[in-house]
Amino acid sequence: MKRLVILGSTGSIGTQTLEVVREYPEYFEVTALAAGRSVAAMEEQIREFHPAYAVMWTEEAAAELKTRVADLPVKVLSGMDGLLEISTLPEYDVLVTAIVGMIGIRPTIAAIKAHKTIALANKETLVTAGHIIMPMAAECGVSILPVDSEHSAIFQSLNGEPKNRIDKIWLTCSGGPFRGKKREELLDIKPEDALKHPNWAMGRKITIDSATMVNKGLEVMEAKWLFNVDYDQVKVVVHPQSIVHSMVEYQDGAVIAELGAPDMKLPIQYALFYPDRMPLRVPRKRADFYTLKSLTFEEPDMETFTGLPLALRAGRTGGSLPTVYNAANERAVALFLEGRIGFLEIVELIEKAMDHHTVVENPDVDQILAAESETYEYLEGLY
Ligand code: NDP
Repeated sequence: MKRLVILGSTGSIGTQTLEVVREYPEYFEVTALAAGRSVAAMEEQIREFHPAYAVMWTEEAAAELKTRVADLPVKVLSGMDGLLEISTLPEYDVLVTAIVGMIGIRPTIAAIKAHKTIALANKETLVTAGHIIMPMAAECGVSILPVDSEHSAIFQSLNGEPKNRIDKIWLTCSGGPFRGKKREELLDIKPEDALKHPNWAMGRKITIDSATMVNKGLEVMEAKWLFNVDYDQVKVVVHPQSIVHSMVEYQDGAVIAELGAPDMKLPIQYALFYPDRMPLRVPRKRADFYTLKSLTFEEPDMETFTGLPLALRAGRTGGSLPTVYNAANERAVALFLEGRIGFLEIVELIEKAMDHHTVVENPDVDQILAAESETYEYLEGLY
């Protein structure tokens, strides 16, 4: 029996994590759940999964939730204090961090210090604070199990292999809804066009990030920290079918990959049951090699999708620049979804914010969060 704390339980990854829990009830217990403002969804989850604690980000949402679940023995908390309290509870085993944004940094650090296993979907935490998180996890003997499908694939391809013999990591990428298009064809893209991902069903922000390829940029930085490789060793390859979820090429030339149907429950389930592979109880889509016929691969178009080379610049420079890349992207995506800027302006704004920033080397958490706030303020000044 594994006892779980799930941060971001009402989101895309959070609800799919709970679907896995629902399918294997005798293997999991839900100790605590956390969300932002989705009170109604949280109430439903509490009634079904009976956590001892629930956290809402705002006090108003927490107050509303308290009233709604007054008949249940659940302790309702709010804000960062609430997130830190549930992340350090003695009575749980695995922190599933499926929250969106840099809000995940402090709870993840607190859970590592409390020696909890981390199932990590919240890539922003590693992108911005990987230099703090990874050494701390190693020092505390804590496993960080990737939930992102590409990183789960790499993690699986490294099983039992010598880590010092990695030649490169091939991070696959579907190319998103605008694969093959040139910049002039992307001028009039509307949010509803960018929200149509060809293969994966995901949250809104990450779906836009896939369309700009900023998501792949964030994943390159996530891979660098998770697998302790140099940026030169991480290659992005466009693979429109999303069947090969990523690969590791070793120094002897052998390439090991993980393949399967594009379904986020696969990596979530793998992280939850690791190191076991539990048989499926509810049929899910599987890769069918007779009907697939072909798997194709191509080089990414870095001239159209400039978010990717910009991520490499942020990652290679390091320090506080990845934080600026991430924070500027968050705000720019929100502006795009509100119809206030065009699709191509998302990456233009990230670049402006990066050019404006004075990099802080080896930032601590306060400096990371200060770089985030500065970036938000800078973009607010522009719009
Ligand atoms: P969603 O937007 O669908 O969900 C985000 C979750 O975080 C919601 O439960 C939301 O609550 C909660 N949340 C947001 N702000 C706060 C806050 N301040 N305090 C507490 N909870 C908060 O995101 P996704 O599930 O798509 O993504 C989550 C993370 O996983 C991201 O880092 C993403 O990059 C990563 N990821 C996602 C994948 C996917 O397929 N979706 C794939 C791989 C990685 P509320 O509902 O109340 O807003």
